[in-house]
Amino acid sequence: MTFYSPEFDRYIHINRKNKISRLSLKVCRVTGKISINASLYLPNLDIINFFNKNRSWISKQLSKCVVPKIVEKGLMLPVEGNCYEIVSNNNVSTIRFLESNKICLPKNIVNVGHAVQKFLIEYCRSIMTPFIIKKSNLFKKKIQKISFKDTKSRWGSCSSKGSIMLNWRLIMAPPSVYKYVIIHELSHLVHMNHGHRFWKLVGELHPNYMYDREWLSKNGHEIRKYIF
Ligand SMILES: [Zn+2]
Repeated sequence: MTFYSPEFDRYIHINRKNKISRLSLKVCRVTGKISINASLYLPNLDIINFFNKNRSWISKQLSKCVVPKIVEKGLMLPVEGNCYEIVSNNNVSTIRFLESNKICLPKNIVNVGHAVQKFLIEYCRSIMTPFIIKKSNLFKKKIQKISFKDTKSRWGSCSSKGSIMLNWRLIMAPPSVYKYVIIHELSHLVHMNHGHRFWKLVGELHPNYMYDREWLSKNGHEIRKYIF
């Protein structure tokens, strides 16, 4: 059985099972599917009441929900905080930015996601590497290695030996956000912890970093949902 919720603009799935003694509610983190498990004989009204009581919880879960977006022609993709449409054109021989916020691929490219990912990683490298090198001059330690990866749980890391790793997806975030992450990682060259003195240094080098931290915690999942 299902019923439609105009508030959430989707169907609520009710699974009736013999052995269930308590009502339970689930919101799928990937698809946003809402389902309720109930016993076979529970009146519908009890289920509706249970649903209504949990509306604010459902809404909170849905806001965290990561609906994957497959990178293909026609998709709007953020780069440095601005939206770009992915298009293709016979007149271009290699993937590039076009005016009017477009990323344009040659018509014959088969794997669009793969091509756009490669393009973004290269673009990320070209933008972030000079910034890292410029800022690292403020520190006494030398940067040994800079790598760009797609890490699931962190945005960057820095080893005591001076190896910096950044998530290349940060190129999708506004510049202030990735600059904050870079300053954060470089500051670990001085303080290998998140203590008071560490945050003081970050604040000196990147004032108002709190806004960028907040952006990442609120919107970071948005730039992780693209499937290339
Ligand atoms: Zn850190």
